[in-house]
Amino acid sequence: MSISNSDTQFDRHHIWHPYTALRDPLPTYPIARASGVRLYLEDGRALIDGMSSWWAAIHGYNHPALNDAVTAQLGKMSHVMFGGITHEPAIRLCQQLVAMTPAPLEKVFLADSGSISVEVALKMAVQYWQGRGQPQKCRYLTPRRGYHGDTFGAMSVTDPDSGMHWMFKGLLPGHVFMPMPETPFDRDASNDLAIAEQYFAEHHQELAAVILEPVVQGAGGMRIYSPDYVKGIRALCDKYQVLLILDEIATGFGRTGKLFAMEWAEVFPDILCLGKALTGGYMTLAATLTTQEVADGISDSPAGCFMHGPTFMGNPLACAVACQSLALLSENHWQQQVAAIEAQLKAELLPLSAHEAVADVRVLGAIGVVEVKEPVKMAELQANFVELGVWIRPFGKLIYLMPPYIIKPDELTQLTSAIKAAL
Ligand SMILES: *Cc1c(COP(=O)(O)O)cnc(C)c1O
Repeated sequence: MSISNSDTQFDRHHIWHPYTALRDPLPTYPIARASGVRLYLEDGRALIDGMSSWWAAIHGYNHPALNDAVTAQLGKMSHVMFGGITHEPAIRLCQQLVAMTPAPLEKVFLADSGSISVEVALKMAVQYWQGRGQPQKCRYLTPRRGYHGDTFGAMSVTDPDSGMHWMFKGLLPGHVFMPMPETPFDRDASNDLAIAEQYFAEHHQELAAVILEPVVQGAGGMRIYSPDYVKGIRALCDKYQVLLILDEIATGFGRTGKLFAMEWAEVFPDILCLGKALTGGYMTLAATLTTQEVADGISDSPAGCFMHGPTFMGNPLACAVACQSLALLSENHWQQQVAAIEAQLKAELLPLSAHEAVADVRVLGAIGVVEVKEPVKMAELQANFVELGVWIRPFGKLIYLMPPYIIKPDELTQLTSAIKAAL
């Protein structure tokens, strides 16, 4: 089976891709298969993957151990409802998640995507305060330039300017936005925190929670900021009795050089969202973890239970492959892999900051970002990259890399050279 011209025409006219219009859409590239760090186009050309399919494919594609995990589970059951039923893949996965996250995070909700895990976190916070007799605490505080997903609750705490606020005005509840953290990675964040404290002081009586992406704001601008800010926000949450939700959907599982980005700040949240790399990019699955205290508050709430339960909750195939992905993470020595990628990204990308078209270059862990001064012509640049044998998908002024952890030095050099050539 392969794709004909009329198939690609059908794709153009009938199938939405992320954030696209069906009138004059930008080209899409047909991929026939993928293996290791390579995506293979229908015409046989290989592209080195710089995106890990949006943070997810950390072990590369078509990994034998991950394939085996799916196949073994497939022979037992691909899915069964989670209401009134449990199964080994879900239990094993939740045991691993509880063991690898800070000790107070010990209760797990398995969600079907990152956005849903954020919806779940937002609901948990509100139900917690209902259970503690403070139902007026039902708004959220969040820094600008955040991104938390595309569903309504998640959109409502996503940056109001770069996000989707004006198109859905009237449908989105108004939450409280504070300025984005400006403090660079290795600096003390007292300025940013003094501003943040004004928002806590003014709004804490109505706030259920603060939600933020620790240390790296992803889709809202690939911004790297000071862990000291995250630490300070944790302290403000305690001082003003507001829960802290950390969204580690992008940063989790080693990407920033720590297993979780919150470790840079030596804090833990009341509620943690995980997704993207959880299954090594094999299937959609996410998780929301919380504490005994929050779970107790929810049990004490008027509803008496947590009000969420998707049809495909705890999907056994997804849980089984997630367990295997977490096993690979430790077997593969992700610390060394990510540290090597970081050193090479620094050596090969940081010198580009001298280029006249470049506004900023930043690297943390296995994330490398080249911010240019003018927005890129996406279709043209994408075509250039494909010609150069790499898959890099820029947006706005950002050309960035977050390769699979298994990438080899010469392959990574092909990615950074392609960016150099594009400039
Ligand atoms: C991708 C992302 C989400 C949304 O996850 P989906 O699986 O796309 O719904 C939420 N928060 C952050 C930080 C993300 O990077």
